[in-house]
Amino acid sequence: HNYTRDDILRLVEEEDVAFIRLQFTDIFGSMKNMAVTVSQLEKALDNRCMFDVSSLDGFYDEEDSDMYLYPDLSTFEIFPWRPQQGKVARLICDVYRMDGTPYEIDPRYVLKRAIARAAEMGYTLNAGPECEFFLFHTDEDGLPTTLTHEKGGYFDVGPVDFGENARRDMILTLEEMGFEILSSHHEIAPAQHEIDFRYDEALVTADNLMTFKMVVKTIAKRHGLFATFMPKPKIETYGSGMHINLSLERNGKNAFRDENDRNGLSREGYYFIGGLMKHMKAVTCITNPTVNSYKRFVPGYEAPVYMGWSSKTRGPLIRVPEGRGENTRIELRSPDATANPYLALAVLLMAGLDGIKNQIMPPDSIDENIQKMSPERRKELGVQELPRTLKDAVDELEKDDLILDVLGRKLSDKIIKAHRKEYHDYCMQVTDWEIANYLYRL
Ligand code: GLU
Ligand code: MG
Ligand code: MG
Repeated sequence: HNYTRDDILRLVEEEDVAFIRLQFTDIFGSMKNMAVTVSQLEKALDNRCMFDVSSLDGFYDEEDSDMYLYPDLSTFEIFPWRPQQGKVARLICDVYRMDGTPYEIDPRYVLKRAIARAAEMGYTLNAGPECEFFLFHTDEDGLPTTLTHEKGGYFDVGPVDFGENARRDMILTLEEMGFEILSSHHEIAPAQHEIDFRYDEALVTADNLMTFKMVVKTIAKRHGLFATFMPKPKIETYGSGMHINLSLERNGKNAFRDENDRNGLSREGYYFIGGLMKHMKAVTCITNPTVNSYKRFVPGYEAPVYMGWSSKTRGPLIRVPEGRGENTRIELRSPDATANPYLALAVLLMAGLDGIKNQIMPPDSIDENIQKMSPERRKELGVQELPRTLKDAVDELEKDDLILDVLGRKLSDKIIKAHRKEYHDYCMQVTDWEIANYLYRL
């Protein structure tokens, strides 16, 4: 929307909005917000709402404390699920220092900076995600479980699909909030679902992803279910990914299209893949930022394990989907929804542009199933693996100057430190698997 300050004041009045949530996203990808009442709205719209970052784990830095929230007026939205009187609205905000400069670890700023660099080269990134999630039962205390009685599978319909009503409600709510929903379906695992919304410019898509996750969780709760985007909540079944479709626009035209090419791709399309492949291991630390993310990268569950690209097979890391002409795009299949969408799109954009700048040709496409290949054949073709653990991914991030530069020094240090600590804490655990396998035997 192209709202002005006056539009928002009028809408709030007309629609009887009582609370306005000022939202932002921390470095771990969690949405945060501060609510103000209508009496404070003008102050908020004048960028004078202050908050203290020093208690915010994913935002705090030694010498910092008070910051300003600058609302992005175009993101004004009234939540459709609140009562008709005293409605709740939100504004997504940028975080600024007291001296009027952007707070350099604000993920939305990091993406905006990457988008500006792309614009200097004449490019705009379009991104369209495919989010998968599980709908589980809650226990008597209302706490989430990993239980479901559902036996649904790929593309099943009700009554086998227990989540059908909840999913339909999610979609209607998202549509009320301006989303264009392309499709939705029951995914392969019991209680697993997918909802796809239309691609948009990177910043809008990142904002949309934050809204999407909030809506899915909120509506699930209303149906007595718990929605989780955790990448691998259950052993021995499929995990949840967040495939991202990417394309560049230049002078209003799709820069990836070339009908005369055998894969339908222009030079820029190939170079973009080349750049992605070059930086993929470091990028994975951002697109797959939890210990659990790496439990999804195992053979047999349609998640990528090896690094390859193809326009022919369904399961590679990078796929060139059927869409041609203005729909030409590439689909990256590794990310999961625990990624901070702002940071993920920033690093993907800059990795791809590095490919264009330095004319990096990707390795040959691999048009057979990489996972079923013999290890010898993979070695022959020089196929590499995605990082196997969060630790491997952090090690890769530390070595990749381009990606570190996209994030900025301060934010990189914070991410590396936080991920190392998370991995360390995880390594201290003794799991049920270890007890089951070792206790009696050793
Ligand atoms: N759930 C699979 C994953 O972990 C993807 C299934 C699909 O292709 O949609 O990425
Ligand atoms: Mg899917
Ligand atoms: Mg897909």
